[in-house]
Amino acid sequence: MYLIDTHCHLSHFKKEDRKAVIGRARKANVEKIITVACTLEEAGECLPITDEYENIWTTVGIHPTQLSGDIESELEKVLEYAKNEEKVVAIGEIGLDYYHDTAEHDLQTAYFVGQLNIARQIDKPAIIHCRGGKNPGENEQAFIDLIHILEQEKFKNGVIHCFSGNKVEADRIMDMGLMISFTGIITYKNNHDLREVIADMPLTRMMLETDAPYIAIEGIQGGPGEPAYVADIAKAIAEIKNVSLEEVIRITTENAERFFQV
Ligand SMILES: [Zn+2]
Repeated sequence: MYLIDTHCHLSHFKKEDRKAVIGRARKANVEKIITVACTLEEAGECLPITDEYENIWTTVGIHPTQLSGDIESELEKVLEYAKNEEKVVAIGEIGLDYYHDTAEHDLQTAYFVGQLNIARQIDKPAIIHCRGGKNPGENEQAFIDLIHILEQEKFKNGVIHCFSGNKVEADRIMDMGLMISFTGIITYKNNHDLREVIADMPLTRMMLETDAPYIAIEGIQGGPGEPAYVADIAKAIAEIKNVSLEEVIRITTENAERFFQV
């Protein structure tokens, strides 16, 4: 029995640190890793890592904060990578970001829908990012728009990554057939709302991820995160749901292997 980090960014670590980071993941029983790309350039950086390690896979997609505006040629390249590269197992990360808000919402939507269609066309899942604005109520707006798009597109084969929404949004997402993945933010002591979402949610709809190096865990919030911390996230879920750690590992790993076909 082993864990899977379904979302981290190995290409964002310093090259000289990567080997140690991957080694510590193995020691923590994290046997498989999906390293996620946010741009076409990053997909090009991630592929050599997947050549080097048979237990690491990658994705291709354009993050909503990384849109050039040249949508046609960029999406063509996303499709090309996704179709031709064996170790590209998903389209991502894609979605809406009203927090950094670096592009018009119409343009964010166009890229998002275009990439959902690529995922559908090549029959691979999508890794979906959704982050709301800084002001009260704006987190809801991003989720309202996201859910509306997914409903309109009838898109089911996706995961909402680093979930930060509420119970109503989690229920809508599960009703639509999508998965939800959780990072180390669930280990933060003050995160009661997210713990409530997890308490009510079946393990069969959950996957684990670190989003490393961006998110750490309770106690070391300042430092960079790394894939080894999936073990701590699994422990936190077992405590919240009052089930055994083995059950959390077994079911979330089964979910990830089925979802990404790894
Ligand atoms: Zn990410």
